Amino acid sequence: MPALEIGGKRIEYLVLRGTSRRYTYFRFRSDVTLEVVLPRGRLGDASRAISQRSEWILQKYEEMQKTKRILDDQRVMFDGRFLEISFEQTLEKEEILPDLERGVVVVRASDRSRVKELVRRWFLRETSRYVMKKLADLAPTLPVPYKVADVREIKNWGYCTRSGRLSFSWQLIALPERLRDYVIFHELTHLEEFNHSPAFKRKLAKVCPDFRQREKELDYVSPAELARI
Ligand SMILES: [Zn+2]
Repeated sequence: MPALEIGGKRIEYLVLRGTSRRYTYFRFRSDVTLEVVLPRGRLGDASRAISQRSEWILQKYEEMQKTKRILDDQRVMFDGRFLEISFEQTLEKEEILPDLERGVVVVRASDRSRVKELVRRWFLRETSRYVMKKLADLAPTLPVPYKVADVREIKNWGYCTRSGRLSFSWQLIALPERLRDYVIFHELTHLEEFNHSPAFKRKLAKVCPDFRQREKELDYVSPAELARI
């Protein structure tokens, strides 16, 4: 694969032909390879287009490098650290055996494609345990109580309805504790302020003074997508 050097970084790229007649597109794949999509039917090389957009490419590349994916083929994030996935094929009982001390999680299943489902069940169990305990501990301190809480598949880390129902992503347990707690505090604050107004931020800052820093850290975590794996 060809590579380009920008700002001392070596970025691998591939050139594709797009459907547009006029525009050149750039996009990064999740493995941080750059795709340069040239206009349909136009000859010429990609290097000029690349040099015109080099600033954007470098900035995006650095962002992607910082992004931590919760799950890929080799490893899974749990409690803020990465565990190596060790797959063992078996036709017997499926099992997932995390060994935090060794930094490994052994997954026994009939096929590698089962890994994600086993991780999901493990995370759902651990996240539920964590969230329910945390909410029970915090409940006496809440100015506005919540009605129900659950852990399930949702688009965001957390979710709160006007009626006081809290939902949390099953992937929460992947995050370090300070980020899990940030998500919980954020949703609990919505029980009082159903918006992101200055009043909301003041109330959140009371229980989580460095919430802005934690928000930034959370931006660099990329959740596993259910449909894709
Ligand atoms: Zn919110």
